[in-house]
Amino acid sequence: MKLLSIIIPSYNEEKNIPNTTRGLAEMLNKENIEYELIYISDGSKDETYEAILEENAKDPRVKGAQFSRNFGKEASIFAGLELACGDGCIIMDCDLQHPPEVIPEMYALWQEGYEIVEGIKNSRGKESLFHKMFANTFYGIMSKLMKMDMKSSSDFKLIDRKVVDVINSLPEHNKFLRGLFSWTGFKQTAYEYERKERFAGTIS
Ligand code: UDP
Ligand code: MG
Repeated sequence: MKLLSIIIPSYNEEKNIPNTTRGLAEMLNKENIEYELIYISDGSKDETYEAILEENAKDPRVKGAQFSRNFGKEASIFAGLELACGDGCIIMDCDLQHPPEVIPEMYALWQEGYEIVEGIKNSRGKESLFHKMFANTFYGIMSKLMKMDMKSSSDFKLIDRKVVDVINSLPEHNKFLRGLFSWTGFKQTAYEYERKERFAGTIS
């Protein structure tokens, strides 16, 4: 059976760790998906890492690491990719804005042979008009530069071990994550999800 690693960058998420762990465990157990959760505390100023250790004491499938300072979400994701043992990895936020209930469908697309299953935000999600305008402009320019459509892409995705190995082998320290997965050239599909409200805590 395949092992799925779920990589969760976490900055000041002490209130979300127990709830996210419980929600993911219930859903993955129900679906009979073998998994490990990898939380990276990105130099959190609260008790995020202690919360991860508490979950690990209850269930060794919950793993984690912490950074000495805040390096940013992308660095946490890269660290998670290095630590993951899975045949595939999901990258998702800690605050349940990337809804765990769509994971079984993303998993099924992976089983069909897609090596990158990219989470695409549908337009119904609640983001401010300003955020949408900024994101549209920024990703519009980046899409032109990189010759890829990135306007509705997000960091929520499932990638096969082949993709993880390529990313881990790259020497760059300043990798621009969103374009990088498609750049590897593996077989890709999109999966549309509705972006939810943050469960607890405030945005960084
Ligand atoms: N995050 C991180 N390092 C940071 C900022 C955020 O690891 O410096 C994590 C955060 O804990 C969350 C995810 O990245 O799991 C997305 O962050 P947030 O919810 O603050 O941003 P959003 O994209 O929802 O505005
Ligand atoms: Mg969020």
